[in-house]
Amino acid sequence: MIPYGRQDITPEDIAAVEAVLHSDFLTQGPAVPGFEKALTAYCGAARGVAVCNATAALHMACLALGLGPGDRLWTSPNTFVASANCGLYCGAEVDFVDTDPLTYNMSVEALEAKLVQAAASNSLPKVVIPVHFAGQSCEMREIHALGQKYGFRIIEDASHAVGGRYLGEAVGNCRYSDITIFSFHPVKIITTGEGGMALTNDPALADHMERLRSHGITRDPAQMESASDGPWHYQQIELGYNFRITDMQAALGHSQLQRLDDYVARRHAIAARYDAALAGLPLSTPHQHPDSRSALHLYPIRLHATSQRRQVFEGLRAAGIGVNVHYIPVHTQPHYRRLGFRDGDFPEAENYYAGAISLPMFPTLTPVQQDEVIGVLKRLLG
Ligand SMILES: *Cc1c(COP(=O)(O)O)cnc(C)c1O
Repeated sequence: MIPYGRQDITPEDIAAVEAVLHSDFLTQGPAVPGFEKALTAYCGAARGVAVCNATAALHMACLALGLGPGDRLWTSPNTFVASANCGLYCGAEVDFVDTDPLTYNMSVEALEAKLVQAAASNSLPKVVIPVHFAGQSCEMREIHALGQKYGFRIIEDASHAVGGRYLGEAVGNCRYSDITIFSFHPVKIITTGEGGMALTNDPALADHMERLRSHGITRDPAQMESASDGPWHYQQIELGYNFRITDMQAALGHSQLQRLDDYVARRHAIAARYDAALAGLPLSTPHQHPDSRSALHLYPIRLHATSQRRQVFEGLRAAGIGVNVHYIPVHTQPHYRRLGFRDGDFPEAENYYAGAISLPMFPTLTPVQQDEVIGVLKRLLG
């Protein structure tokens, strides 16, 4: 089976993890801040808080921005459920903004129209989470301008987009957002097994997220609410969680980061090959926005005849090609239907979903494997 995504682990990665296993710290040691510093330097952000997964990073980011009951969070329906669930964890109301027909990212026009309506009915969101679908940045300059106008905070869900660029700068620099989060799940661009990170340029948000990562506890006298009893003292300032990542994982991530640019370059070479081979077939290949250099986490094709999707998907699977579909619109999930969402609420996301298939896309995909994928797809559509 050729999977749709796959990690790449080198002898250097294994040596980095092994070195931690022989060291004094398996968790809360130096590898975690080492990884945080390296990735924030790569992205050009001030601070990074590494955690056990990106879902925890989203949850923690929402809490740090003060999201709670009575507040609203808006995100894209074309995403993994975690981008919306983080709002529910905080007791906030979740709603969605329909997608752009070309990039499948949150549509700036749809966002603006929804904001105009929400302003009129006094129901503006506190937090908006644009999701950089397939690794391509949303139009963050425009979304940020709307944030200034309507007073919402922004968390970029860049789970797909580490190594990507927007307007010539690294995704993750938080120029147009309060917080950016990355995922290091093995199907993503670089991996720590499970893992995530929240990046920010705001030191108060970073301090707050560091506390939330570890039970709401601080050992910094400056953050304590009363005088410290002494050097042993810690204070629990609020209700936090155990969202920590281990040093073994951080060492793996730091080692993987050395190859991030090579990985993204490989993904672009694979995409260029797919683009050329699939031209002329009754499908759309991923559109690349001129402001963005995608990290190309995914290569989602969109069949023009949605009635063919099941047969093409099953044919690819039967031929040993582990295709997948990204994403089932979140608002159509049973949990969200129970909250009142219906088919037809976000037609662009639903129309895209009806024809979507993600082809195998990972840096170690060989030309022979890729030709097999292309050959089977051509046969099924021929
Ligand atoms: C993978 C993913 C997440 C969750 O990441 P985990 O590290 O698995 O928790 C969140 N949002 C998007 C868009 C993702 O693809």
